Amino acid sequence: MNVYDGWRIASMLTHHGMTQTDNVADADIIVLNTCAVRAKATDKVYSALGRIRRAKKPSALFGIVGCVARESGADAFRRIPDLNFVLGPQSYHKLTQILDNPDARLLNIDLGGLEKFDELPQMEKSPTVAYIPIQEGCNHCCTYCIVPYTRGREISRSFDDCVRDTIHAAKTGAVEICFLGQNVNGYKYTDENGKTYRLSDLIRAAAKIPEIMRIRFTSSYPTEMTDDLIEMFAVEPKLLPFLNMPIQSGSQNVLTRMNRPYSLELYTDIIDKLRAARPDIQISSDFIVGFPGETDSDFDQTMEIAKRIKYINSYCFKYSPRPHTAAALMTDQIPENIKATRLAQLDEYLNSVQREFNESCVDKTLSCLLEGPDKTGRHLVYRTPYMQQCIVVRPDGDAPVLTDIKITAANKASLRGEIVK
Ligand code: SF4
Repeated sequence: MNVYDGWRIASMLTHHGMTQTDNVADADIIVLNTCAVRAKATDKVYSALGRIRRAKKPSALFGIVGCVARESGADAFRRIPDLNFVLGPQSYHKLTQILDNPDARLLNIDLGGLEKFDELPQMEKSPTVAYIPIQEGCNHCCTYCIVPYTRGREISRSFDDCVRDTIHAAKTGAVEICFLGQNVNGYKYTDENGKTYRLSDLIRAAAKIPEIMRIRFTSSYPTEMTDDLIEMFAVEPKLLPFLNMPIQSGSQNVLTRMNRPYSLELYTDIIDKLRAARPDIQISSDFIVGFPGETDSDFDQTMEIAKRIKYINSYCFKYSPRPHTAAALMTDQIPENIKATRLAQLDEYLNSVQREFNESCVDKTLSCLLEGPDKTGRHLVYRTPYMQQCIVVRPDGDAPVLTDIKITAANKASLRGEIVK
């Protein structure tokens, strides 16, 4: 979501006659787009602001947008007195007001609705992978999560708007569509005639666009994985065989305390249905270890579910208390050293599964999408249908955007391959 917001901010400033620079000292405006999901991310924002402040031209405007802006509000001006703007994730479309009135302080952390999508200019050229936000906010209120506070209650965009943006992306360069939402599979929009649209309808509509060759969506909540959506994996070949469906913990007790009220049986039944619908599907997850009250036995159950599902491409984090959340007030917080030990154990296991999966791809041919050159410029990075990086030697002339690649080698982090002529 932040990558998408960053593109829209850059495009909005370009429409305002500005050009991008990688050099802070050259910039007339510096926008730090921020994430508040973990405490460490928030701390990093303020140290980055200190660095920017020292490096920028005296006349340059600088400020923050996104979830840390919403979390900090006017307090950001107290911490950094010469900051020029603080705009929340639902109000960053107001950024250009600061260009018209550079001596004012611009503060807007309203949650509002979906106006920003109407007010932001369309991007003239889409990246190959276009992110299309279809819903924002979240009603689930997991006890550890700051998102319902920073992004607000769940709200779905109109079906027609989502399709219009998808077609626009396809006509201006997109080959892959990634539908986005904090609770993307909870997408639900009822039009003025009473017809209700779900994510499966959007996938069907996107698949009809000839330029669109790959479709995916993130991030999914288990109880919203309805049968119509599971069916899409069986019938729609453009939908990639890869799904991020975070479980967070393998302990029913911890899930209850997280206010994630699904049973482990329901979760594993959904995985079984997905694998029946699309035998080659791979699942990824996010995990939180060291949630308040998590016992050794709770953690062992997380290891067990990880071993049972064999997730690829997953992320695990130490629980980090966030303001405005119920879990931050729980009294049975877990010591950092225990969190760190559990994180290392789970991480090691997830990495070993990733390596095993990557190695199982050797000698296979996968359809891959070009991401761009690597740092050396001598290689190209492609993405497999499972979001693995695949590195090939840069060919002479133009490289194909979507191509079959024969996988020749693998390690934990990436694959190597050769473009199939
Ligand atoms: S479902 Fe996701 S975004 Fe919503 S509250 Fe839970 S963790 Fe946060």
